[in-house]
Amino acid sequence: MAAPVRSVALLGATGSIGTQTLDVLRRSPEHFKLVALSGGTRTQELIAIAREFQVSLVGVLNENDAQQVAAELPGAEVVVGDDGLDVLARSADVVVNAVVGFAGLTATLAALDAGKRLALANKESLVAAAPLVDQVRSQRECDLVPIDSEHCAIHQCLAGADPAGGYRSVKRLLLTASGGPFRTKSVNDLQHVTKADALDHPTWAMGPKITIDSSTLMNKGLEVLEAAALFGIPVDRIDVVVHPQSIVHSMVEYVDGSTLAQLSHPDMRLPIAYCLGLPERLDHSWGAISFADALTLTFEPPNREAFPALDLAYEAGRRGGAAPAWLSAANEVAVEAFLQDRIAWSDIVPVVTRTLDAFDGAPLTSVEELREHDGNSRRIAAKMVSSL
Ligand code: NAD
Ligand code: MG
Repeated sequence: MAAPVRSVALLGATGSIGTQTLDVLRRSPEHFKLVALSGGTRTQELIAIAREFQVSLVGVLNENDAQQVAAELPGAEVVVGDDGLDVLARSADVVVNAVVGFAGLTATLAALDAGKRLALANKESLVAAAPLVDQVRSQRECDLVPIDSEHCAIHQCLAGADPAGGYRSVKRLLLTASGGPFRTKSVNDLQHVTKADALDHPTWAMGPKITIDSSTLMNKGLEVLEAAALFGIPVDRIDVVVHPQSIVHSMVEYVDGSTLAQLSHPDMRLPIAYCLGLPERLDHSWGAISFADALTLTFEPPNREAFPALDLAYEAGRRGGAAPAWLSAANEVAVEAFLQDRIAWSDIVPVVTRTLDAFDGAPLTSVEELREHDGNSRRIAAKMVSSL
């Protein structure tokens, strides 16, 4: 790749996607220069990363952390909170949004607004803000590429397909799902699972929120909504298939019966490198398959009765507007409550279902409205949690 060095801003640098992005950057100093960083907690790690990569623009969550960073990194510019994320997301050629949850919203919108490449791991912002992202995309060319492995696979399988008319040549998108730690469990078994069980993902090591989402299949539900928003394909042309080996990362079925798939061992550094390098492929291999060893790939339908989060997400997608924002906000509240031992695993999806029942269909046309929707959903979900 003989392209000029690209500057990179990494938001959520201390998390699972963040540290894997740093790994990719360490391998390709000739292609990328990290120029901006942010982290929510673990300030000492953030400072160590800034030192290693000689980054002089750093974002933190609050003034206390800002003082600590400023004291330890003389000469660095330190920015704080949401305003800080806005500054960071306008500061580089490529913005990797690896923040978790709705907190990623500002960076997603700012990077698109500033015409930067947005390498998006933070699915929650796209799910919640899909109508707003559509508005921006209708006004300008946006460079939005998905780090989420399923969507990155679909992005690759769609290469060369004409996006006109919502990809008329595409019959459906097939998102693969590992099935999570409870794939083989019945509704009854699921009444008594523990936090340790839910955090023990069979194929991926990820942050706690997405790991719990994977155990309820809410992650796959959010990914259906993410795919609809990214590719402009309605949820009813998106299917989910359980594939426990996590080797086929997703597929596209075309109208002539041909299905294209992307395969690799599960390693998020591959989709991260893809998003950083596009349109080139970086010459470092992550997760390549040796077909010398026996390889068994199996596929099965998801158990929709045991994992109702999936159909709930489809329902939110069909309602459109702010419904996905309500779903995602309520889910964040419920997952947080579960991680704090305030509700049982089997309470998570009922909290989201009942919160979504309270959504009155009010429109979503601005960031202000989105923040109001997010707040309302959180308030109702918190009340449901307290009542349990
Ligand atoms: P994580 O919890 O490991 O890391 C989250 C990062 O965001 C940390 O750096 C944290 O400090 C920061 N952060 C948390 N709250 C913040 C706030 N309020 N403001 C600013 N920064 C904040 O999470 P993760 O597993 O790396 O996931 C990040 C995103 O990527 C999520 O949206 C997740 O769904 C998505 N994703 C992750 C994976 C994976 O393999 N981990 C795969 C696909 C998609
Ligand atoms: Mg995924």
